[in-house]
Amino acid sequence: MTEQFIIALDGPAASGKGTLAKKLAKYYNLALLDTGALYRAVGLNVLKAGGDPENESDALKAVGQLPEINLSNPELRGESTGAAASKVAAIPSVRAKLVDYQRNFAHNPPSDKRGSILDGRDIGTVICPEAKYKIFITANVETRAKRRFLEEFGKNGNEDNYQLILSELKARDERDMNRSTSPLKPHENAYLLDTTNSDIEAVFEAACAYISNKE
Ligand code: C5P
Repeated sequence: MTEQFIIALDGPAASGKGTLAKKLAKYYNLALLDTGALYRAVGLNVLKAGGDPENESDALKAVGQLPEINLSNPELRGESTGAAASKVAAIPSVRAKLVDYQRNFAHNPPSDKRGSILDGRDIGTVICPEAKYKIFITANVETRAKRRFLEEFGKNGNEDNYQLILSELKARDERDMNRSTSPLKPHENAYLLDTTNSDIEAVFEAACAYISNKE
């Protein structure tokens, strides 16, 4: 049997994962799953229902509604949804319910695709440790906050806006790295890409070089 073409791409919030995942998916003709959107959808549904994202039964109820959720809803993108997502994501039973969906996606891409790419926090370590290509992308938290700040406010932001984003990202890193189930960390064989001083084109080229060296 030929080995499946699967890329596991992990990293912290605002590290550039999403942008890199889209570029790799297009270049290599891969089906793309933004796994953060699953947790965001659960978090948003809890908030909309007036529930508490840290409450297991509220979160599990929202997991049950996932099939009805549009994962490209722009409402999923805000930082308040990101924070709710990281709270529901720390609940082991919520994570367990999402495992099969993600593995099935990874291993059964549509026939017109060469393989799959999943981006998230635990793809290389838990969801697809068998993936041939594992990339862990990161950047220091100030750089990530600056990028998010420019995305959100362009030239109109002030110091308070920046400080708020910085503290939200730090809180999310802290929750994602220190939870007991599937914490954010690189797989021991992952290719580490620090993007603090690189733009997206340089990051994309480095990722492609890693992939072609392993092909
Ligand atoms: O990547 P994104 O910022 O959209 O993820 C939102 C939140 O979902 C993360 O902060 C993290 O807590 C959670 N998440 C996760 N495991 C994944 C993807 C996302 O725990 N594979």
